[in-house]
Amino acid sequence: MTVADETSQAQAPVCWCCGNQFEENDLVRLGSHPEVGVCFGCARFLHRRAVGQEDQRRTSLAGRIRSAISGVREWVIAHNWHRLPLVGLLLQRLDRHLP
Ligand SMILES: [Zn+2]
Repeated sequence: MTVADETSQAQAPVCWCCGNQFEENDLVRLGSHPEVGVCFGCARFLHRRAVGQEDQRRTSLAGRIRSAISGVREWVIAHNWHRLPLVGLLLQRLDRHLP
């Protein structure tokens, strides 16, 4: 394989957040900047951060509950319990279903 062949091969799109390669249909593109793509996992992470920052600005019961859950989640991760099979699975389910 020549250098020209290697450079002419299309590279898989890269997530602008985590840097991993994905298929195009596994990325979410930004509206005003379609060159920027974020994978679903990073999109969920960014959504969680946005909700957390919004909760800090406006205190509410739902925001306090989300903050408590987030605190427990961070504590579990800090202690590496998320690597345990059952706990890791539960955290992944929480990530999918919590706002
Ligand atoms: Zn990503």
